[in-house]
Amino acid sequence: MDMQLLARKIILGVAGNSVVTKAATKYGLALGASRFVAGETVDDAIESIRSLNEKGISATLDHLGESVDDERSVKEAAASYSEILEKIAETKVDSNVSLKLTQMGLAISEELCYNNVRDIVAKAKELNNFVRIDMEDTPYTNATIRIFKNLYSEFDNVGLVIQSYLYRTEEDLEDLGSIGANIRLCKGAYSEPPELAFPNKKDVDENYKKVFSKYVESGNYMAAATHDENIINWIKEWAKANNISNDRFEFQMLYGIRPQLQEELAKEYKVRVYVPYGTEWYPYFTRRLAERPANLFFVLKNMLRK
Ligand SMILES: Cc1cc2nc3c(=O)[nH]c(=O)nc-3n(C[C@H](O)[C@H](O)[C@H](O)COP(=O)(O)OP(=O)(O)OC[C@H]3O[C@@H](n4cnc5c(N)ncnc54)[C@H](O)[C@@H]3O)c2cc1C
Repeated sequence: MDMQLLARKIILGVAGNSVVTKAATKYGLALGASRFVAGETVDDAIESIRSLNEKGISATLDHLGESVDDERSVKEAAASYSEILEKIAETKVDSNVSLKLTQMGLAISEELCYNNVRDIVAKAKELNNFVRIDMEDTPYTNATIRIFKNLYSEFDNVGLVIQSYLYRTEEDLEDLGSIGANIRLCKGAYSEPPELAFPNKKDVDENYKKVFSKYVESGNYMAAATHDENIINWIKEWAKANNISNDRFEFQMLYGIRPQLQEELAKEYKVRVYVPYGTEWYPYFTRRLAERPANLFFVLKNMLRK
């Protein structure tokens, strides 16, 4: 296992500790999470989206929350997405929405989850908007693809995320490509065993380029969600060399990560930034730390300043 993946395993392991969770949720936003999270309310997030839009960047709004295991919270989370879609329509910002199925009840029941997400996708359809289903860890991969495919048989305004670190990805994309699914490709942010995911970054990156080019070449639309300049430059060159026009793919990045690169790319390509907001920011924040352990120094620096 390479150092980057080992660091991820350790950080995600420590972050799962309940004492650490309590302390972090109390002080985290002040200690650095606000670099990655656009505030606690939808109005904070809309403001951030407005300033991205001014730079020619689109957004996808995520109301943070995952692994919800009581029906009341699931209902609240689902209702919040309907409100968000209305707010986007009302304020006319350029944004769609991203959501996680475990926030919509997948850990309780697949049917409950499906019905909740169906309502959100139907609402988005009414408002001429789009819903992206994030991909979580491997216990949920099959159910997530199943739910997406069911929704996609009824609605065209729904897309899915696929992770290049999984061995199964090439096959999944063959299947999803045959129905013309709109896919966001990312490397994958969870700690997965070597039986299921490439343990070396080099292989994850190679697989990323391989499946991206194959998917777009076959005529399907794909969003390249990465901050990796090697991959971004490779995609730009590959597209030029193969006469792939810029409207056949887009770049996506996370709020607060490489903002200059986001602006630079937006001059030539479609760029969309993932804007998360809400009070349930802790698991999202720890995944951002695990991706880049150097971010821990940024948190420590903020602690020392307090
Ligand atoms: C729009 C979007 C949506 C995503 N949705 C999902 C999803 O649904 N499911 C999922 O599993 N994962 C998701 N991810 C996360 C993704 O899987 C990776 O964990 C994350 O993007 C880091 O990988 P990378 O491609 O940027 O490459 P890396 O090789 O990890 O990083 C390349 C460079 O980017 C910069 N960078 C990367 N991460 C950070 C960071 N946290 N802080 C500061 N700099 C950083 C650094 O300069 C680094 O050298 C998403 C990512 C994006 C951009």
